[in-house]
Amino acid sequence: MLKLITALLSMVLFYSCILPSSDDADAVNAMNPDSMKHNIMILASDSFMGRKPFTEGETRTVAFLQEKFAALGLEPGNGNSYIQEVPMVSIATESDPFMKVQSSKGTTSLKFFDEYGFWTAKTDSVISIDNAGLVFAGYGVVAPEYNWNDYEGIDVKGKVVMVMVNDPGFWTGDTTLFKGKEMTYYGRWTYKFEEAARQGAKGCLVIHNTAAASYPWSVAQNNFNQSRLNLAETHGVPVCDAVGWITESSVNKLFSAAGFDSTLLVKANKPGFRAMDLNLKVSTKMKVKTEFKSSKNVIAKITGSKKPDEVIIYSAHWDHLGIGKAGADGDSIYNGALDNATGTAALIELARAFQSLKEKPSRTIVMLAVTAEEQGLLGSEYYANNPVYPAEKTVANINMDGVNPFGKTLDMSVVGQGQSEIEDMAKLELEKDGRYAAPDPKPEAGSYYRSDHFNFAKKGIPALYLKTGIDVVGKGKEYGKQIREEYNSKHYHQTSDEIDPATWTMEGAMQDLSVYFRVGLKLAGEETFPQWKPGSEFKAIREGKK
Ligand SMILES: [Zn+2]
Repeated sequence: MLKLITALLSMVLFYSCILPSSDDADAVNAMNPDSMKHNIMILASDSFMGRKPFTEGETRTVAFLQEKFAALGLEPGNGNSYIQEVPMVSIATESDPFMKVQSSKGTTSLKFFDEYGFWTAKTDSVISIDNAGLVFAGYGVVAPEYNWNDYEGIDVKGKVVMVMVNDPGFWTGDTTLFKGKEMTYYGRWTYKFEEAARQGAKGCLVIHNTAAASYPWSVAQNNFNQSRLNLAETHGVPVCDAVGWITESSVNKLFSAAGFDSTLLVKANKPGFRAMDLNLKVSTKMKVKTEFKSSKNVIAKITGSKKPDEVIIYSAHWDHLGIGKAGADGDSIYNGALDNATGTAALIELARAFQSLKEKPSRTIVMLAVTAEEQGLLGSEYYANNPVYPAEKTVANINMDGVNPFGKTLDMSVVGQGQSEIEDMAKLELEKDGRYAAPDPKPEAGSYYRSDHFNFAKKGIPALYLKTGIDVVGKGKEYGKQIREEYNSKHYHQTSDEIDPATWTMEGAMQDLSVYFRVGLKLAGEETFPQWKPGSEFKAIREGKK
């Protein structure tokens, strides 16, 4: 009899574990497609002017978010304020029209904009490169876990380094080299600049290649001749005087002036390659104008019932590109409906779900709407450098940059698959709904390093980044891919990223938000912290070994 009772009891316990409680299910149902759609319409309306930092569009967006969070009863997330000020500096550069390169044979001139482009993160009024040595440093990578060091045995202090974009795994397709075709952080140009600065280089030029960069030279050129935003405080992190891009054909010109040829680029793929001093001298300069400004992150929280100091942070960037050059239809407002009014509105629905729980989660839930993602992930970088909640107490980050406004999908894409245990939790939640987790359809683009969660990852905080699936219910993957490609080519970062009330049904959003909610709820109720997986670039940071 006792045995039977134990068996029955354990069955009851078993079922109560796997069946979602009605409290959780009610919370999921509290998220409202109509309010989601309504909030996207407001955020992406012309009166919000494309939500560019420092404009009236920012003022309206920040006020709107603060009002929404307060109305839902969320507490201010930064002391007694919903706001974290983000001091930034706008840096405009005016480059010399040429860069002169001196070899033993004579002088070669490269044309600014067409053949190369420099910019700076420094605030000095003039940046000049005066007969600096030129080094070809392969991929410009120092990765002890892959036993790779392009800078070994060479001193690049005061010199300009030229480095290849992406990482050795990309070109060779060799899966034993880095992550094969999937881009690691070492492949991103932002990493190349950081490493060159750590090595003491004066300048760093990334060698452009369309396939390896995943975009054409014209996209690299968008960085030249325009003002750029940076954080006003750099926290002692070294930066090069000048960074930028150079075309592959210009590099070949320089190689031949130095007595080499294009096979150098191939040699850099081999383990054991060492940076080479080209014995060339580079000279150019640029004038710099600076302006200091401040923008805002919005932070709201629901204090945990048992472990209030341990937090799960949901993030989404509220900003977009503002008002700019008119598109073909004469429209000049970059509404950013999908990118990222959807993610921002999703924060509000998730807040509603957590608030509707009768039993509050043990850990604290934080909603963080960050600024200036479009200017280089600056709001999240500022937060990561000035965390309101310490990194070691931050359990996880769940970032949303684009939430599916269309119909339901069977899948969601896991960006950066293999990074952390949170993706296994997402996989499980998807499976409970009869759905599945799919790999990132474009791993070579390095998307894991291109939105706000990356700044959390860099501090060792495990971060989840999912994207809309492509396996559209009843229509299949080909159709889903087509929708995605159409968005990328016709609407991404264009004035036509607007809401279409007829096709934006929010059915897909509700389905995906349920997954985001349940993963966060699970994390908020656990005793343990999720881990990075072996092979992740961020594991050693979390474990205090890097
Ligand atoms: Zn975005």
